[in-house]
Amino acid sequence: MGMGMAMDGRERKEKREDGADMAATDKYEEAIAGLSKLLSEKSELQSVAAVKVKQITAELAAAGNEFDPADRIKTGFDHFKKEKYQKNPALYGELAKGQSPKFMVFACSDSRVCPSHILDFQPGEAFVVRNIASMVPPFDKTKYSGAGAAIEYAVLHLKVENIVVIGHSCCGGIKGLMSFPDDGTTSSDFIEHWVNICSPAKTKVKTEHSKLSFAEQCANCEKEAVNVSLGNLLTYPFVRERVVNKTLALKGAHYDFVKGSFELWDLDCKIAPALSI
Ligand SMILES: [Zn+2]
Repeated sequence: MGMGMAMDGRERKEKREDGADMAATDKYEEAIAGLSKLLSEKSELQSVAAVKVKQITAELAAAGNEFDPADRIKTGFDHFKKEKYQKNPALYGELAKGQSPKFMVFACSDSRVCPSHILDFQPGEAFVVRNIASMVPPFDKTKYSGAGAAIEYAVLHLKVENIVVIGHSCCGGIKGLMSFPDDGTTSSDFIEHWVNICSPAKTKVKTEHSKLSFAEQCANCEKEAVNVSLGNLLTYPFVRERVVNKTLALKGAHYDFVKGSFELWDLDCKIAPALSI
């Protein structure tokens, strides 16, 4: 991200005068009116309502500086179309016919780790799945059909030659995995169950690195979880078959956005990184 954020005041003002913005403002005011009515029916809440309405109204009045998501999206696409799409007719012409990416990539949903940005993947180069803590669940047709469908499509139809699982520094999902109680109790609808996919990594780190600080344990777990995911990839028969035939390679990686470094390793040599940048 970052591109197209520098919009001057004049441009923004013009944008706010168009019909879409007016409609959005009307809805906003309608919602405030509704809130006001609802709360005024409960006399004890009247003062609270008044304060809330005043606050929202003040926010609306300051709309000149307000972040406008539709504007941001439009500006972003305009920039992409002008600077990339229209400047590379050959590439986008080819991609209009089909895709044959060499990579399937698992990356975390974290907004700081987009693989297309950090590895400079161009459109058509990487088939990407992003989820909490970039985890690959084991083969399970009912529990994990979303991940399974993506792997099946990438391997059997796109015939990708590499699957790369990328962990990263300060991963909230991994921190969660390392913090959640092991007694089976949960306080979230999805998150704990999901990150438990890599519980073997947690067990390994807690056993082998019990003396390390919690932050250091998490940093270790970020990489061990990648290795668990690489192992889970082998539970898919079509992945296993191609790895054995050497038509598919599985790679682990870790991106550290604090240090600005990237580590890459193969499934078979988990201990010594093959490449460190
Ligand atoms: Zn993460």
